[in-house]
Amino acid sequence: MRVLGIETSCDETGVAVYDGDRGLLANAVYSQIAIHAEYGGVVPELASRDHVRKTLPLVRQVLAEAGLAAGDIDGVAYTAGPGLIGALLVGAGFGRSLAWAWDVPALGVHHMEAHLLAPLLEESTPAFPFIALLVSGGHTQLVDVAGVGRYRILGESLDDAAGEAFDKTAKLLDLPYPGGPSLAGLAERGDPQRFRFPRPMTDRSGLDFSFSGLKTFTLHTLNEELPRAADREQTRADIARAFEEAVVDTLVIKCRRAVRESGRRRLILAGGVSANRRLRERMDQMMREEGGEVFYPRPGLCTDNGAMIAFAGWQRLRAGQCEPLAFSPRARWPMTSLPPV
Ligand code: ATP
Ligand code: MG
Ligand code: FE
Repeated sequence: MRVLGIETSCDETGVAVYDGDRGLLANAVYSQIAIHAEYGGVVPELASRDHVRKTLPLVRQVLAEAGLAAGDIDGVAYTAGPGLIGALLVGAGFGRSLAWAWDVPALGVHHMEAHLLAPLLEESTPAFPFIALLVSGGHTQLVDVAGVGRYRILGESLDDAAGEAFDKTAKLLDLPYPGGPSLAGLAERGDPQRFRFPRPMTDRSGLDFSFSGLKTFTLHTLNEELPRAADREQTRADIARAFEEAVVDTLVIKCRRAVRESGRRRLILAGGVSANRRLRERMDQMMREEGGEVFYPRPGLCTDNGAMIAFAGWQRLRAGQCEPLAFSPRARWPMTSLPPV
């Protein structure tokens, strides 16, 4: 079965084709970074309008790259939520109409389930069950995964998501949008010994997170240190490094706890922040110590993309799940309400 996947939940238009026998046949992402950069963040209405412009050309491009005609597609999967409602409506309306015109089944995919399943697109794949750490722009969740659609949330952020904390802290450091990668770049030049930031909520039991305090901690440190810094650039890098270490260390502490408490031997990381190099290094080391294994998608499949939507859609469409002609994107949508496959 060959599935066309369409992702338009935020500021990336992603389109891909996944083939059950041959794997990923084509995958194209158009990022709207240039459009939103001057505003320092995603402007929802501009995002929707640009998805309208880019979706059809990307579908044509992907079909051409895969050497396929419309008649070769057996199903269409689109992101139905969670995300920006206007942006979701573009992909949902487009995907559902395309499926109707091609007379194939359509399915609205849960964006976070798609992130969660993305590591299964790689060569070495984790077997179920496993623990998943979802770290993206809008979510930080620890999930016990028994199979596709069999999810139990073990913990989540009570305030900012990990990616959101990176983005907001990057703004405090005057770094360009999107903040996560720029902050990580600056942190590479920083001295990890100079400042030590708190590891929020690690001194009590449980698997929830809180990252908004770290942003405030960064602001206070900047206000205190920059005016009297001999080398302002080095001080900014040292502060970025301290912030990154605090986020990464907090995530590692909670993942270790989740692995120990659940007895699972496999951990997967997914979502944009799982592209972070330091996070991967530390998680590798932690899972070696625990006698288990860690899996993550290649960096291009950590952030938003059509491949993960095509793949998650394929998992469900091949099991016979599909949607009626009406479509209903959801800005909010708990992943635990999904049916098992
Ligand atoms: P959600 O998936 O929760 O709806 P989203 O789709 O906006 O949110 P993703 O596309 O998964 O999020 O990831 C984007 C986030 O990942 C941004 O917050 C970005 O700053 C962060 N990010 C990307 N690369 C890195 C990196 N190398 N280090 C830290 N953060 C990163
Ligand atoms: Mg994005
Ligand atoms: Fe995402």
